[in-house]
Amino acid sequence: MGARRMLLLGPPGAGKGTQALRLVAKFGIPQISTGDMLRGAVAAGTEIGRRAQGYMDRGELVPDSVVIGVAEERLSQGDAESGFVLDGFPRTAAQAEALDALLERMGTKLERCVALVADEDSLVTRLLGRAQIEGRSDDSEDTIRTRMSVYHEQTAPLIDYYRKQEILAEVDGLGSVEEVAKRIEEALS
Ligand code: ADP
Repeated sequence: MGARRMLLLGPPGAGKGTQALRLVAKFGIPQISTGDMLRGAVAAGTEIGRRAQGYMDRGELVPDSVVIGVAEERLSQGDAESGFVLDGFPRTAAQAEALDALLERMGTKLERCVALVADEDSLVTRLLGRAQIEGRSDDSEDTIRTRMSVYHEQTAPLIDYYRKQEILAEVDGLGSVEEVAKRIEEALS
């Protein structure tokens, strides 16, 4: 059987969320999106939401201590026992190390990191389009630029981290949802 404990890595707008939902439907495993969980916390006005909001609005990363807690709590729930699709977590070396340590404590490990690859111009165009449709408060042009540079500085180094673990698959993220889904399926089999 193919991998069931997987992670989607890639710059903002690369289609992680869309592809994560396809994997949820295909494998019957939960999507774990720290972005969605943090937006939920902001909307619900929780303490975590209050701590996260400013960073999110500016397009900066929410501090590791906050995000790691959120992700660990979610991964510890029963429905993640037989597999999961991580989407938007980890995003820093510290988060990646915390994830490895947690999975080790749980007696398991990550099986595949799918890195979606796309050029920045296409991504910015996509994100600006999404901004009009979804009205997400962090999809303004300035914030998009910040998120891109944060990605290059803090998250892109994780590609090497997972390459060294020999679980990396790089997948072309440009094309139709269907085409990209097919490439991911191949990378997971
Ligand atoms: P995108 O990948 O399109 O930027 P996300 O929904 O994954 O969107 O994330 C939105 C925002 O939530 C990020 O810009 C950041 O502020 C916060 N966030 C989400 N996941 C993390 C994480 N793992 N670490 C730090 N901040 C995060």
